[in-house]
Amino acid sequence: MASRMVYFFGGGKAEGNAKMKELLGGKGANLAEMANLGVPVPPGFTITTEVCTHYYQNKKTHMKGLKEKVQQAIQKVEKLMGKKFGDSENPLLFSVRSGARKSMPGMMETVLNVGLNQKTIPGLVKQSGGDERFVYDAYRRLIMMYSDVVMEKAAGIEPKDDEGIRKQLEKIMDQLKKQKGCKSDTDLTAEDLKNLCTSFKAKIKEVLHKDFPDDPNEQLWGGINAVFSSWNGKRAVSYRRIEGIPDEWGTAVNVQTMVFGNMGNNSATGVAFTRNPGNGENNFYGEYLINAQGEDVVAGIRTPAPINQYSKSEHNKELVALEKAMPKPYKELFAIQNRLEKHYHDMQDIEFTIENGRLFMLQCRIGKRNGPAAVRMAMDMLKEKLIKKEEAVMRVTPSQLDELLHPIIDPMAEKAQKPIARGLPAGPGGACGQIVYNAVDAVEWAKQGKMVILVREETNPEDVEGMRAAKGILTARGGMTSHAALVARGWGKCCIVGCSALEVDLGKKEVHIAGKVLKEGDWLTLNGTKGVVYQGQLPMIDATRNELLHGFLKVCDSLRKLGIRTNADTPEDAEKARQFGAEGIGLFRTEHMFYGIGSDEPLFILRKMILSSTLEERKNAIAELYPYVKKDIKATISAMDGLPVVIRLLDPPLHEFVPRDRARLEALAKDLNISMEELEKRAVNLHESNPMMGHRGVRLGITYPEITEMQIRAIFESSAELLKEGKKPYPEIMVPVVCCSWELEDQFAIAKRIYKEVLAKYNLKKIKHMFGTMIEVPRAAIVADKLAEFAEFFSFGTNDLTQMSFGFSRDDIGGFLPDYIRKGILPGDPFQSIDQVGLGELIKMGIQRGRKTRKNLEVGICGEHGGEPKSIEFCHRVGMDYVSCSPFRVPIARLAAAQAAVINK
Ligand code: ADP
Ligand code: MG
Ligand code: MG
Repeated sequence: MASRMVYFFGGGKAEGNAKMKELLGGKGANLAEMANLGVPVPPGFTITTEVCTHYYQNKKTHMKGLKEKVQQAIQKVEKLMGKKFGDSENPLLFSVRSGARKSMPGMMETVLNVGLNQKTIPGLVKQSGGDERFVYDAYRRLIMMYSDVVMEKAAGIEPKDDEGIRKQLEKIMDQLKKQKGCKSDTDLTAEDLKNLCTSFKAKIKEVLHKDFPDDPNEQLWGGINAVFSSWNGKRAVSYRRIEGIPDEWGTAVNVQTMVFGNMGNNSATGVAFTRNPGNGENNFYGEYLINAQGEDVVAGIRTPAPINQYSKSEHNKELVALEKAMPKPYKELFAIQNRLEKHYHDMQDIEFTIENGRLFMLQCRIGKRNGPAAVRMAMDMLKEKLIKKEEAVMRVTPSQLDELLHPIIDPMAEKAQKPIARGLPAGPGGACGQIVYNAVDAVEWAKQGKMVILVREETNPEDVEGMRAAKGILTARGGMTSHAALVARGWGKCCIVGCSALEVDLGKKEVHIAGKVLKEGDWLTLNGTKGVVYQGQLPMIDATRNELLHGFLKVCDSLRKLGIRTNADTPEDAEKARQFGAEGIGLFRTEHMFYGIGSDEPLFILRKMILSSTLEERKNAIAELYPYVKKDIKATISAMDGLPVVIRLLDPPLHEFVPRDRARLEALAKDLNISMEELEKRAVNLHESNPMMGHRGVRLGITYPEITEMQIRAIFESSAELLKEGKKPYPEIMVPVVCCSWELEDQFAIAKRIYKEVLAKYNLKKIKHMFGTMIEVPRAAIVADKLAEFAEFFSFGTNDLTQMSFGFSRDDIGGFLPDYIRKGILPGDPFQSIDQVGLGELIKMGIQRGRKTRKNLEVGICGEHGGEPKSIEFCHRVGMDYVSCSPFRVPIARLAAAQAAVINK
């Protein structure tokens, strides 16, 4: 263990740097980096994540020697600042800030103004030139934060939403404001604040049965321990579950010299982004508050003002921009943000404070952004030569890309609609759902399959699970950097904040908007891109025409090695997938034409075929069926003109097609010219007790070669016709559910015979095609070398392969798989992401053995996994030629394949 425990920063240098996120957490590492860059950062020190981990493993005992190390670091800060912690003449105050490796917005707790007490208050008053108002404002903030973050938590109290100590203190403050006729907290006088502090302390004693600590060291260590403890707090744990952050990481603690944005009207605090996180535009964007401290901006207590002209919106355009109010510090801030972006090669999210006209940087980190912004920034930075192609494709996550493919409100329908309210556009796209008023209901309703819109006054970290479950989020308060906005942006969820026309009554579960009363369960539609709210249910459409998106995907294409195909069962699907960039069809399920809507005729004939008992009956039915099958196959091959189309021979167990209703059965009996008793007997004979492992796939072709014959003929004759029409058909004929090579030999013999017949009939020399097999039975992977003697391509059908390798019935996993995942027995659902440990070995072996026999064997995947990024990365690593996924996933697969190529370079 590298037990340095404490890393110092300040005075133009630091012991840490940006690369040390694991040890110093994101905040600490970046504070160190900024200090090293010579950016003005108030000095302080970081206690490492190791100390946090130790603290938990060893039942809340500190690491040996920590107190001394902290003491030494404090002395260093004191020297640099010429102030002393706890000193009555010239006191030094600290903030105690958490900071995990990855930013967890609002999850962990921060305490400001630590070190203020009866002894140091007069000293700070003197320091500030006699500004008592400022000092008591700082003190009342310390009391509010400390009682909430440290004392209440230490007492083990978990109050409900609006019953916590903080809420109770806020109530006292609101009362005082009302009594004094103040609009804003800044209108309270020094005397008011002094009285407030006294009332606060009395309330704390009453509720928590403890005195507010007056000893600076007790305050400091209380704060440090609270940060450590908050790592295991309920909200932090639930956020980690959702984001997949390991519990072992731990958080660091940053202890930093306080600078004061609340020292009067020449002071301010703010949050900004080096580019607009909402749309990606290359413009400095942010909000600030004059005479305010810390979280006032994020909390939405006052409406923040724009930092510049560009940041003005409907809501804040009346307020004075920072560039106007404080031109000098703004200029400095502008230069620093520029420098930081160039240094980090990415958009930065920064926190700053101006104390009496002097600028300090308090945080910088890679800024969260929504999908459209991520794509725009990646493309812009590529053009600006700030990043390379490889970096550009890594800048957009598959789920961010997904946002660009996500539904928006049908513009036509939207035009005809009058908004009932407007707010800030905090998360893009459209959402439509039923109103719920708290996170628990949101989760509950979503579980029942309902679409919900979570409506809140403002959100807080306790709401994250509900926010996750909701289709959209709507809040009455808060700005673009409020909790709701940050979280929604991180997830790319449709979200509108600061919708001040809302009057939410959480108790009654209703909301008043523009004279209307909406109740729980009423429908709302949100346009998160514009920040507009509509009553009722508006139709949604998907947004695929996007030039920027297509440009970005072309960059992806230039890097990826994997081909991208699609699973398409209709010519329409094929067409759509082609627009999305599919390079062929990886799976065309012939039986799908019988499920389709439209004419019942093909299904009727198929049923006749199935219920035939003699070869002659069956051949008649097949002859009748033939034109339908050919038409369908031809249309699909034609839509993919020039690209390969993998056509799978009939796969499902036949009894799936047997009708259940009497009228249909009678019609069949009549057509087949048999009695009902006879028909029923035949239907019963088709019944299997385990159909998924029954008479299906290639087994059908083995017992009824005439069925294989018919399909092969349809494939080659339609190809021949297309050739004559000047097209370039390329069918790949695939046999399903194969387990041994003789099955293939049997079927390909038929195929080859038909191929020759068709060539002769159409007077052709050649039709480009391939014969291949699906690998979806574990035995097939094992005997892959034998299969490859006949098969020219493999396609891994990982749905069935997963099912049969685990012995988990796909249709019955609901009963036990959730428990497996909850208990950590399996890391995740193997039907969603390939089980690389087990199934992965089987696939690797199959590919190796197959290619040993046939060097140029084409290998792809056609299960659901083909559109899942982690599985795609796996497919890249094991050397597949392509993945195939549903048309809508094609763009995501293009991105994931490019990322796989970059990661494995
Ligand atoms: P979070 O991780 O929730 O962003 P932070 O540790 O960044 O929490 O702190 C919350 C707020 O307190 C921020 O607005 C930050 O600017 C402010 N703050 C933190 N430390 C100081 C400090 N030393 N001086 C002044 N303000 C501070
Ligand atoms: Mg912060
Ligand atoms: Mg299958």
